[in-house]
Amino acid sequence: MSITQAREILKHQFGYDSFRLEQEAVIEAVLAKKDCVVLMPTGGGKSLCYQIPAMIFDGLTVVVSPLIALMKDQVDALKANGVEAAFINSTQTVSEQTAVIRSVRNGQTKLLYVAPERLASGIDRFLDFLKEIDVSLFAIDEAHCISSWGHDFRPDYMQLGVLKREFPGVPLIALTATADTLVRKDIFERLNITHADLFISSFNRPNIFYSVEPKRNSYDQLLKYLRNRKDESGIIYCLSRASVDSLAEDLRDEGFSALPYHAGLDKETRDRHQESFLKDETKIVVATIAFGMGIDKSNVRFVVHMDLPKNIESYYQETGRAGRDGLASEALLFFSWADVIKLKKFAQVDGNAEQSAIMLKKLDQMGEFGDLRSCRRRFLLRYFSENLSENCGNCDNCTTAVETFDGTIIAQKALSAVARTGQRFGIAYLVDFLRGSTAAKIRDEHKNLKTYGVGADISKDNWFDYFKDLLAQGFLVQNDGDFPTIALSETSMDVLAGRTKVQLNKAREKASERASVETVAEHPHIPELFESLRTLRATMARGENVPPYVVFSDVTLIEMATYLPQTADQMLRISGVGDVKFDKYGADFLNEIRNYCSRNNLASRIDLKSRRRERKVRPKRGQNGRDTYQTSLDMFRSGMSPREIAKEREIGLSTVENHLTKFIATGEVLLNDLVALEKVPTIRKAIVECSDSQALSPIKEKLGDDYSYGEIRAVIAWLDAGLDSRSASPSVV
Ligand code: ADP
Ligand code: ZN
Repeated sequence: MSITQAREILKHQFGYDSFRLEQEAVIEAVLAKKDCVVLMPTGGGKSLCYQIPAMIFDGLTVVVSPLIALMKDQVDALKANGVEAAFINSTQTVSEQTAVIRSVRNGQTKLLYVAPERLASGIDRFLDFLKEIDVSLFAIDEAHCISSWGHDFRPDYMQLGVLKREFPGVPLIALTATADTLVRKDIFERLNITHADLFISSFNRPNIFYSVEPKRNSYDQLLKYLRNRKDESGIIYCLSRASVDSLAEDLRDEGFSALPYHAGLDKETRDRHQESFLKDETKIVVATIAFGMGIDKSNVRFVVHMDLPKNIESYYQETGRAGRDGLASEALLFFSWADVIKLKKFAQVDGNAEQSAIMLKKLDQMGEFGDLRSCRRRFLLRYFSENLSENCGNCDNCTTAVETFDGTIIAQKALSAVARTGQRFGIAYLVDFLRGSTAAKIRDEHKNLKTYGVGADISKDNWFDYFKDLLAQGFLVQNDGDFPTIALSETSMDVLAGRTKVQLNKAREKASERASVETVAEHPHIPELFESLRTLRATMARGENVPPYVVFSDVTLIEMATYLPQTADQMLRISGVGDVKFDKYGADFLNEIRNYCSRNNLASRIDLKSRRRERKVRPKRGQNGRDTYQTSLDMFRSGMSPREIAKEREIGLSTVENHLTKFIATGEVLLNDLVALEKVPTIRKAIVECSDSQALSPIKEKLGDDYSYGEIRAVIAWLDAGLDSRSASPSVV
């Protein structure tokens, strides 16, 4: 039993090149029969942590999973990779259950998925049955369900402590995406694994773009947003069932493919809607939070919150359902303080002051997030006790370079509106007042004031932003309470008297107007081919009655449409193509790609994919290649520039750069021979940001014309050789 075996399985059965996050460490611990608690973000790849050991162990791995509805999909996905898996639950007939039991007894089934109640309540003396067979591992998925501090408490989970008591020698692995310390403590204690190893992976989801928009005209904003994302899958969360129903209907009227999902619908309808979404037949699900737990749909491109989630944990978990395939995805929240106030009314837990206080605090933090003007990812990760050393560059606050302008006059108008109306009103009223609204709510006596209507030339949205800005800069203050009012601050007079100038942030671009996520830009794939591969995938999935991602994920299809594999070997190098899937689907997909290529006169581009694999390759000694590399090196050492060498040898400049790059690892060429040092940090940052992609072109695109492929390759070689000693600055060169 070794990690080498695990790597083989990763490659051949699942078709992946390398482990992610803590996967490898976890698998090693499990193989050593240690109990483990694994905290990994949604989409991080928790399943492989027990699936791979399950295939290595001799006996059975029992997986406890809370959602019966998902078991079939999970098992189907495993079978598609040639893993013998089964599930047993109350939706099956007696004879189906008997067949499963038989396949477990004769050792055919390696992984068995069960619901917690089967273990807890002893349905069919299930524990006795397990004792008769050889159990190698217990895996508890969604382990946070064991804690009432969590957001998904399930009483049945409380009984799972029985496993460690009854099977003390069988290792147990508990997995969750919730990192809360109280929840964590409950997992260790209630499962009786207080000595378990803890594995925490970074909760960062770098491919998710976080943005927040003010909750005003949110429906119109949403429509615009969705029109920019026509063919993409997404989830839209609302607080109430009624708003779910009406929003889904409205969206359908607008021509969107949208279905509702909430606990008030009957089970059959819910299952049907979920199924249709998983199969990509429906693009959008409008849902209450009842939807999504454990949803393994990897290509959800956006998650929208129409209403405020109750706490950061829920928000993070819900938004985490976007982009599990690692491609660029978005999380959009429509935020208003009114939502915070509304939720606070529900947050009071009768007779439990302590719990109420926790809930209220969590709501305030949610509010803080909504109002944040700095990097959202840093805030979120800090919440989960992680520190990001730099701003992320992939949230609304990071990407909207805040340009400022002299807003002294605007500030004076705003401040004087506050003063003249007696410091007793909220922002909404003040904005209407400034814009000269004729609405009834504006008091008659205010309509005679000099400031009434002086801000009619500025839009409502912009006024709101300016007020927030003035608050943030301390030129105004907000009084807390159910209806926050605005008052002057100590510095207000200086502004009104013209003694202080005020810089305001320029209004920002709205998310609904931003172009859709360009998943394409990251991977320069051929969209047309991608489309036909998608169609082929749909056909095959229908034939086998499984969701499309069970055949291949979007990432896998995009790789195919990028690298255009032409042979079996090349196909097997595509991420997500393991041996079994290759046998099943490889020929059909190869066919499709070959046909497309011959029609369009295209050749394989699989060599673009070799960057990672070749990273440790040193210049080959004693072969022909050595000579040509060495020649370039010798000429370089004699003082010729790469361009001169290229000319002299009548080969391309990039070839020469390539030759020289190979000697970075050996120290015979220095990085600053090939790249100006001040360019290194920028190049390096782009490389890190594009680390999901095997191709160089996304990096090049990011950097633009001032940077060459040769420079990029040189920095990659330098990083791969470990010469940067992982420090943040290149001063070590
Ligand atoms: P989680 O349960 O943590 O939310 P999953 O186990 O469902 O996440 O994995 C999410 C996706 O990532 C799946 O499509 C899975 O096949 C894929 N995946 C997992 N591990 C790897 C890996 N090492 N390399 C590439 N893809 C992976
Ligand atoms: Zn950021």
